[in-house]
Amino acid sequence: MKLGVLALQGDFREHIYALDDLGVQTREVRLVDELLGLDGLIIPGGESTTMAKLMKNYGFDTALNEFYENGGAIWGTCAGAIAVAKEIVDFPQQASLELMDIAVDRNSYGRQVASFEADVDIDILETAFHAIFIRAPRIMRVGEGVEVLARYNKDPIMARQGRLMATVFHPELEDDRRIHEYFINEVVNSK
Ligand code: GLN
Repeated sequence: MKLGVLALQGDFREHIYALDDLGVQTREVRLVDELLGLDGLIIPGGESTTMAKLMKNYGFDTALNEFYENGGAIWGTCAGAIAVAKEIVDFPQQASLELMDIAVDRNSYGRQVASFEADVDIDILETAFHAIFIRAPRIMRVGEGVEVLARYNKDPIMARQGRLMATVFHPELEDDRRIHEYFINEVVNSK
């Protein structure tokens, strides 16, 4: 198995460290050709407007749809979750891959000062996960085919739709690798 981390902007290095810890072959992806041969891709957190512009400039807007159609798995964390979402409610003009049937509100948890940490229960884990939320997007709606794997105060914070996964928090900023492990073992391996 080989995984990639989209390395145009944001905290891609932390995802690379996490995958390295788990012994997975990993590649930083900056050009669409670098998607070749990958089984899965992580889109990191960062600033989603900037990321969307860079993705368009470098052709990832179409290449990632093809990657998914050809059997690739995609996990978006935070800004990455915005990138995979079908709908961005507060910035409808912002481009996204429109892959996952979720609607997100980019800044609904508030500004930087409203960032927070919390121990959350996640369906697929036996014990709580310490989740870091940094200007997290709020998932406002999930479609029928979307499975909610965790909630915080009733709001979905982790969801999966087949080979697509979204988390609005940042598992890569923790030493706890269980969510990366789940992506590798269950989401990427589900194809
Ligand atoms: N809310 C931010 C945005 O819209 C994402 C923040 C993050 O990735 N930590 O870009």
